[in-house]
Amino acid sequence: MKLYNSLSRKIEEFKPLAPPKVSFYACGPTVYDYTHIGHLRTYTNDDVLRRTLSSVGFDLNYVMNITDVGHLTGDDDSGEDKLEKKAKGTKQTVWEVAKFYTDFFEKSIKALNILLPTTFIKATDHIEDMITLVKKLEEKGFAYVTKEAVYFDTTKFSSYGKLSGQKLDDKIQKSRDEIHIDSEKKHPADFALWFKKQGRFADHAMSWDSPWGEGFPGWHIECSAMSMKYLGETIDIHAGGIDHLPVHHENEIAQSEAATGKTFVHYWFHNDFLLVDGKKMSKSLNNFYTLEDIQKKGINPLALRLLYLQTHYRKQMNFTWESAQAANLALKNLRDQVIALKNQQDRTSLSEEKLAKNDEYKNKFYEALSNDLQTPQALAVVWEVLKSNIPSTDKLDLLYDFDQVLGLGLSEVKTEELPPHIFDLQKKINEARKQKDFELSDKLRKEIQDQGYKVEDTPTGTVVKK
Ligand code: AMP
Ligand code: ZN
Repeated sequence: MKLYNSLSRKIEEFKPLAPPKVSFYACGPTVYDYTHIGHLRTYTNDDVLRRTLSSVGFDLNYVMNITDVGHLTGDDDSGEDKLEKKAKGTKQTVWEVAKFYTDFFEKSIKALNILLPTTFIKATDHIEDMITLVKKLEEKGFAYVTKEAVYFDTTKFSSYGKLSGQKLDDKIQKSRDEIHIDSEKKHPADFALWFKKQGRFADHAMSWDSPWGEGFPGWHIECSAMSMKYLGETIDIHAGGIDHLPVHHENEIAQSEAATGKTFVHYWFHNDFLLVDGKKMSKSLNNFYTLEDIQKKGINPLALRLLYLQTHYRKQMNFTWESAQAANLALKNLRDQVIALKNQQDRTSLSEEKLAKNDEYKNKFYEALSNDLQTPQALAVVWEVLKSNIPSTDKLDLLYDFDQVLGLGLSEVKTEELPPHIFDLQKKINEARKQKDFELSDKLRKEIQDQGYKVEDTPTGTVVKK
């Protein structure tokens, strides 16, 4: 398995620390607003990576957090807590806001066949773990306290910026127009580990006791604390969208490695953006669509999954309704072909040549995925199998196997319960078409249609529907 590692900026051979075990951490959603289809692109690609690793024999522990506290508007500790801001604008409590959008997130990922994490945890359930980690950083001299907060001292961590390649000096320039500046903050790149319940945060609804007084954790510390708790101090894979790379992930590395003296993550897996009209789909630009928007347009959520798979995860992808409709048709076509295959019963004994052909398709499919997750090439193998002349049962076996990774629900496609005489006619049509007796197949087709059924031809056979 080869994977691009954002840290080395190279495609590397994937070698987990303790095979066959793989520790995988994915930054979860901040639950202050609807999950949109940009988020879903990232989580789908993470899911495909997870399923691919499982399919080639690894045993994954996949941890995802829910960010329900501490994520501020603005990347520089200057803004408001996103959940508190949302709650103020509604009649709900922060806890209700978190619950509502967590449920929406879960509903959305389920609709896209994204497997639930093995460990799915909330930041607010891990405040003690975060406090312990901040204390450790303080003891080791990597943190300092001001009237407003506890900060990580980036100048003390010599490799700060190694993930993004940014120098600390660049941060000085970028941070000049901060909205709120803590005058005691020593360096603009320093980031809050703990905010005190004072000043702009005096009314903060979520707060806990700590050695630095009542307050709440900064956003970055939660991922370090939870990753270490469930997966250990060094993990194999950490995933997220590309927007998290320069600040959030850089800070996660700094505070984790400063605390443990060990490498935090071996492989950094970053997804590029879903765009709309050339701009990043985001809550702040209000240019987003959700699962419900997709369903309202009559598009199967799994068609969205298929659409994502058509673009490599490290490329930007522009969303259009035309492309979503096209993916919907493609999915329907794929499912119809599965139905037609299921209706055919031509299990013939496999000759060695045919067996070799099956292996060739399988190898091609997994080679594409093992090459830094080339999903477009893997999909091309699906269509190739459908067009091939291998027996339909073998086609089905291959499709079901591929679908363990693709997650398009192909094994759940239901053939319609047809009355036996209609089912018989359908079988006869398939026979006639195989013999190229089109006169007979047309006659049989009319016979079925006259009884109120629809007959559709697909490249793999005839499908009859009510
Ligand atoms: P957030 O809730 O903002 O922390 O985002 C949850 C995940 O979705 C993160 O990994 C983000 O990087 C990712 N993400 C946000 N917007 C997009 C987008 N337009 N395209 C792809 N991934 C995104
Ligand atoms: Zn994170």
